[in-house]
Amino acid sequence: MTTTPPADLQDLAVVGAGPAGLAAAVTAADLGLSVTLLDAGERPGGQFYRHPAPGIGAARPEALHHGWRHFAARARRLDTHRQHHRVTYLPSHHVWTVVRDDSADGDSDGDGRAATAPCSAWRLHAVAGPDETPATVRARAVLLATGAYERQLPFPGWTLPGVVGAGGAQAMLKSGLVLPGRRVVVAGSGPLLLAVAGSLAAAGARVPAVVEAADYTAYARELPTLLRNPAKLAEGALHGSALLRRTTRLLTRHAVTAAHGTTRVEAVTVQRLDRDWRPVPGSGRRIPCDAVAAGHGLVPQLELATGLGCTTHRTPDGTPALTLDADQATSVPGVWAAGETGGIGGADLALTEGEIAAAAVAHALHGTPRDPRRTAALARRRARLRAFADAMATAHRPGPGWTGWLDDATEVCRCEEVTAGRVRHAVTELGAQDARTVKLLTRAGMGWCQGRVCGQAVAHLAGTAPAPDRRPLSCPVPLRHLAALPEPGAPEAPTP
Ligand SMILES: Cc1cc2nc3c(=O)[nH]c(=O)nc-3n(C[C@H](O)[C@H](O)[C@H](O)COP(=O)(O)OP(=O)(O)OC[C@H]3O[C@@H](n4cnc5c(N)ncnc54)[C@H](O)[C@@H]3O)c2cc1C
Repeated sequence: MTTTPPADLQDLAVVGAGPAGLAAAVTAADLGLSVTLLDAGERPGGQFYRHPAPGIGAARPEALHHGWRHFAARARRLDTHRQHHRVTYLPSHHVWTVVRDDSADGDSDGDGRAATAPCSAWRLHAVAGPDETPATVRARAVLLATGAYERQLPFPGWTLPGVVGAGGAQAMLKSGLVLPGRRVVVAGSGPLLLAVAGSLAAAGARVPAVVEAADYTAYARELPTLLRNPAKLAEGALHGSALLRRTTRLLTRHAVTAAHGTTRVEAVTVQRLDRDWRPVPGSGRRIPCDAVAAGHGLVPQLELATGLGCTTHRTPDGTPALTLDADQATSVPGVWAAGETGGIGGADLALTEGEIAAAAVAHALHGTPRDPRRTAALARRRARLRAFADAMATAHRPGPGWTGWLDDATEVCRCEEVTAGRVRHAVTELGAQDARTVKLLTRAGMGWCQGRVCGQAVAHLAGTAPAPDRRPLSCPVPLRHLAALPEPGAPEAPTP
């Protein structure tokens, strides 16, 4: 099995081997497409099916997952397709940009099949492994399944050791079988909190409280949508009842508004919130802990897509996501997307969208007929799960009052050490009206993470809605790789 990029033009390049990309790659290969699947991670599965490194010797990696069989079935199909050279799987390959490949014509793989859609060809540039070896893949169609990252809303003390992301805590547990602490407060907003708290408790941590900023009664307004998704309801109930059995308190419309400690977190202050997430004065109480797992939902990872000019829209929780048609096609011909890139929706939705997108690509490139019954069933499932996702996003949309728990000394941009006070000064005294101007005046968002961690918070402090990710490179790239890029239109030397 090879980990070298294929030299010939592929039908489809899939970026991301999470549930969406994995489902898309195996379905496309089933339908006869030549596929290259690139992923920044070392193993397939993405965030949801993240599993322990082989060296750890975990006997039952599936114990930390529900729906493992969905992953296992696709992972087996991936192996079969790799053995028959229908899929080239490139783990540890981080794609930093996707550009048009003007050197390709419609049939440069020489298989005699004419393209039935006006797809250009694409060139994907990646850095591979710890040595950041350059790698290039050329394909007639691209499917972006790059997932999401956590939204962090800062609070005083959030930079103390022991404060980690909620998804980060889950990732530590799933990939390294380690806990962030022995007594962990889980805080923020969104359905991920219950899942994280459940996993931490099952793995032996004491979780004194799950602190949820939203109010679950918001779900009551979405009753028909909830009833159409009994499996999701059962999942929530399962997590909830497991926590109750372990005497974990669920505090809704509350937030961790400060973390305290000297060399690491020793306690948090939890406060009641009003409807707009403003802390209610006098409602604070301290909860001792040695770790906090905090996250306020997820944000689609869109750099590659916005770099290509794909259109975005705002989801009900205010985050930008790709605008997609019924075939999961973006606004750029030849580029499809699936999973969290089109709006946060969970692993089941990602699997469904990956399959829909792959069938659409096969139809567009080779005219492969689609099974009408399967197509209709997938479309129905997508609509049902997307409606549920929208209901969740509405319920957990951050209220504007959360900035009330930041004091001026709270660091907002950790890379450049920019405090809330400096951001407020840029807005109120220097006239900044958007995150970009704040960045130019304070350097907030100019550091290593390029605003991934602080971007949402800075936008809120500037009084604007967060803009879609626009970064010309989706990860740090050695300058020598940029220097080696061919002139536009020139053929590229093959990857070593
Ligand atoms: C930190 C975190 C923890 C989570 N934990 C849970 C949980 O416990 N329970 C739950 O129900 N949901 C969880 N979720 C949400 C869940 O992971 C998603 O709903 C689901 O995985 C979506 O699948 P996806 O394929 O769209 O994206 P992902 O599973 O996120 O997969 C995206 C893949 O794309 C790769 N990628 C991204 N950019 C590039 C690039 N430029 N080049 C190459 N590869 C790239 C990533 O390495 C990743 O493997 C979590 C999400 C996050 C961010």
